[in-house]
Amino acid sequence: MSLTTEGRERLLREFPGDLLSDAPEDLRDYGRDWTRVVDPAPCLVARPRSTEEVSRLLSLCNELRLPVVPSGGRTGLAGGAMAAHGELVLSLERMRRMDPVDVLGATVRVQAGTVTEAVHAHAAEHGLTWPVDFASKGSSQVGGNLATNAGGVNVVRYGLTRQWVLGLEVVLATGQVLELGGALEKNNTGIDLRQLFIGSEGILGVITEATLKLTRLPERLDVLLFALGSLSDVLRLFREARTSGLVLSAYEFFTDLCVARLLRHRRLRSPFAEEHPFYVLVEVEGADAQHLERWTSSLFGIVCDGVLAQHASQARELWELREGISESLSSTGLPHKNDVALPIASLEAFCTDLTELFARRYPDWEVVLFGHIGDGNLHINVMKPDGLDKEAFLARTKEADHELFALVQKHRGSISAEHGIGILKKPYLGYTRSPEELRLMRALKGVFDPHGILNPGKVVDA
Ligand code: ZN
Repeated sequence: MSLTTEGRERLLREFPGDLLSDAPEDLRDYGRDWTRVVDPAPCLVARPRSTEEVSRLLSLCNELRLPVVPSGGRTGLAGGAMAAHGELVLSLERMRRMDPVDVLGATVRVQAGTVTEAVHAHAAEHGLTWPVDFASKGSSQVGGNLATNAGGVNVVRYGLTRQWVLGLEVVLATGQVLELGGALEKNNTGIDLRQLFIGSEGILGVITEATLKLTRLPERLDVLLFALGSLSDVLRLFREARTSGLVLSAYEFFTDLCVARLLRHRRLRSPFAEEHPFYVLVEVEGADAQHLERWTSSLFGIVCDGVLAQHASQARELWELREGISESLSSTGLPHKNDVALPIASLEAFCTDLTELFARRYPDWEVVLFGHIGDGNLHINVMKPDGLDKEAFLARTKEADHELFALVQKHRGSISAEHGIGILKKPYLGYTRSPEELRLMRALKGVFDPHGILNPGKVVDA
């Protein structure tokens, strides 16, 4: 399926003005996401301003059998928004209207192109927030967050994105517009179609608007950074934090290798005089100062060192140590990324197996671990060794991924905790989903998108 000359002429005729672009820099920028593993090659970029335009555009693409890649802030890490085969990229970035916040219902309706951070600022005026938060909040968009069911740093407190959506407006491949759910907190009327679209990475329909559920903005957040000697201490500390009576809003972990990369890339300082193999950032909500002090002084024997941020800018500095990791890995080398989830109870056994696997099979690799350990979510990054060329490295990581995912399967984990499947993890989906589940997913794809125009080649084939 590719765009014919007549098809192109028809699109340009029916959508005059600046809705469509084939400028080389647009094709390059809109055809890729943060993964950068495939060269972008879309045929056109469309930037509609309304649901009505999205609907007319999809209807025509469906008729022309032209593949469409829905596109948000393109901060994804699984290649879900990449367009490398002559597709039309459908960017929602011009659709960023936010309705007034409904303070009583604690909801807000926004268009899909609204940037995450803008929703936060809008809700904060009323003491509310949309508790979906990650390092890419300045460019990620609501539609992309929902389509990928994005995770982030506060999942331990609030759960994944899908828990913070009340209603969706979705445009199907035929151009038909569905209104699902509205602003109802309770709606117990059969199969919840909204949830099929959330996390389906644009293969079933295009989300154009959403009614988001808001919650009270936390009044006080305390940020602590701990240095630890072993992974089992990281998990012991988590048990202590969980049973402390404190409200945990983040429990993040990273290793000395992350810090080394971070310090090479940015002018950041570690708050500790000595180096330690493991670090944990803990954020607690609404804690009483005495309670917090009692808790931290009970941690001798588990932590080697610790610091409690004394003011907002110190808290930000501690957060930068965690949130800057991903960017510093990409800026100082070529990381091969994995994002796995394990039951918390199996994390330690999994990490033991993981260390053994890499030491035995890939002893020359630098394996950089960090993640949202409070959710059982581990980001496993392998850095390309300097002497190895990119193609050879990617071929070896493909082989290693099969061994890694076999371990994930053994420990009943998931091959993706929050990044999604896209194109990068598609060959491995069978490690987490059964053949029957995959068959049902394909069947659903056929129901919603019979001609297979929506984000083809991603997640599952039709
Ligand atoms: Zn993450």
